[in-house]
Amino acid sequence: MRACVKTDMKKVELLDIPIPEPGPRDIVVKMSLSAICGTDMHFLDEFPSELLAGPYPNSAIPQGMLMGHEAIGIVHAVGEDVTRFQPGDRVIASCFTACGRCPECLRGEPAICTGDGTLLFGCQAEYYRVGHADLSAAKVPEGVTDEVAVLATDILSTGLGAVERAGASIGDSVAVFAQGPVGLCATAGARARGCGLLIAVDTIPERLEMSRRFGANVVINAAEKDAVAEIMALTEGRGVAVAIEAVGTQKTFESCTQVVRRGGTVSSVGLYGLTTELSMATLSPTFLHRNIVTTLAPSGTLRMEALLNLLNHGSLDLGALFTHRVRLEEVAPAYDLFRNREGGVLKIAVTP
Ligand SMILES: [Zn+2]
Ligand SMILES: [Zn+2]
Repeated sequence: MRACVKTDMKKVELLDIPIPEPGPRDIVVKMSLSAICGTDMHFLDEFPSELLAGPYPNSAIPQGMLMGHEAIGIVHAVGEDVTRFQPGDRVIASCFTACGRCPECLRGEPAICTGDGTLLFGCQAEYYRVGHADLSAAKVPEGVTDEVAVLATDILSTGLGAVERAGASIGDSVAVFAQGPVGLCATAGARARGCGLLIAVDTIPERLEMSRRFGANVVINAAEKDAVAEIMALTEGRGVAVAIEAVGTQKTFESCTQVVRRGGTVSSVGLYGLTTELSMATLSPTFLHRNIVTTLAPSGTLRMEALLNLLNHGSLDLGALFTHRVRLEEVAPAYDLFRNREGGVLKIAVTP
């Protein structure tokens, strides 16, 4: 089969490798659609070369790192201990597959599994393997399209998770810093959750335009205006109840700490990549009596089923996130386009 493989720093190639075999608790899925994610770029551009084939077991092929963790497809083969899936089922899997047995999983938090849970790798291929399938995959209802369903595997779960973890309530004012795919899902999620004044911040006009479409009342282009001053003015100097950091930079994190009101919450879901330290001002009026929470993608079968239910019956319309569609053969140039944020790119769908 053909698979997108990281063979060097900043370089992916389409290679012929064997179709994966399922372990006892695994399923192997024939990919219908996969997506390129900001996290893929961190792995491609920043993850040290000496770790190309690991440390994650699903990625261990000698040629390099199997790319891709967001996909939907049809079950091709099932391991002997799998009980919930059969060949032919249309499924998604959360981008993190948890063990189900460690203390964190038993507490109901599969996203922070400390057992042999692992990130999913290798979805940008004709076939991919999903570990611990009974705990991480979910059947997709007919009413949800491939492009929409695949968002649940990572970015929708992450963006919505930012809103949920902040405990945003009906009528709360919310500011979302960065309107990439995760930030846009946070914006749409805050709107779906019944928040009040919703402010979106970015520097790319196309992304801000999309923020409005996804429910933002006010958009601020941080390349033209001081976003912190604007948000404080919009909230009569009090700040917002929830400030969401959705890209992973010092600047956006710090801005979040400066616009959140007393008793409010900074909810950070950006991946900070090579940024090894974050700082924030500790002088009043920021810092004191603020909460800071950080989350990666909430994961697991129940989470996938809940999000699919929301996509099937709720009011979220996220189809516009896919701005580009390519075939698997064109995946390498698609990575370059995604890295350079060209052509208003948000999400790229990759099909076999
Ligand atoms: Zn992702
Ligand atoms: Zn676990």
